[in-house]
Amino acid sequence: MTREEADVSHPRREIEKLIEKGDLKALLYKAGELHGHLCPYLAYGVMAGYIAMRELNVRSTGMEEIVAIVETNNCFCDGVQIVTGCTFGNNALIFRDVGKTAVTVAKRDGTAIRIVLDPDFEKTRPEEYPEAYRLWNKIVVRREKATKEEHEKLMKLFAEIAIKELNQPFDKVFRISRMKIKVPEYAVHLNRIFIYQTVSDTVRFITVSLGQATGAELPSPTQEAQLNL
Ligand SMILES: [Zn+2]
Repeated sequence: MTREEADVSHPRREIEKLIEKGDLKALLYKAGELHGHLCPYLAYGVMAGYIAMRELNVRSTGMEEIVAIVETNNCFCDGVQIVTGCTFGNNALIFRDVGKTAVTVAKRDGTAIRIVLDPDFEKTRPEEYPEAYRLWNKIVVRREKATKEEHEKLMKLFAEIAIKELNQPFDKVFRISRMKIKVPEYAVHLNRIFIYQTVSDTVRFITVSLGQATGAELPSPTQEAQLNL
């Protein structure tokens, strides 16, 4: 098999090699390509994804062999997505909005690992990195006006912290538990949009499951909304 053929049939090969080698820094850079910047929560996501992949010892080809259930939509999730290959687009990423920096990664047989950023550890980060958190609060939390230099400084500090945090012992950063869970069914491929009625300046549309969309009959709406044009 040529290199190109191997890449075509196995595009995550490079990421898998990095997982095998335990090269968290290279995985963080990969995550940065998706995420747009390097930051501590991205690093925690990379670490959590790495722990899960090592533990479950499964190849992820984006066909829902494993699913990742995340409990936050912060930077952490992008680290999880890159390393586990469970993404929003391949239906293997499930978002439960409970505001916790946590992920459960499960195989189809229900073998799962839950990795939670330890709140006691998390609390200590602002004291550890006061300048970065001061800028974070000013620029991101309070949305105050900041200079270009302050923006650049925050990005630089966050990248440095992200790389440094990768060296923390996993049991200091996370609470890790093994469990069996009931894995959600394979996702139905949803959301083909059918525009079916135009009334004055609004278009009503429905989304239906592709599974239901066979045959001549217009399927009944599963969701309805209006777009104001
Ligand atoms: Zn981030």
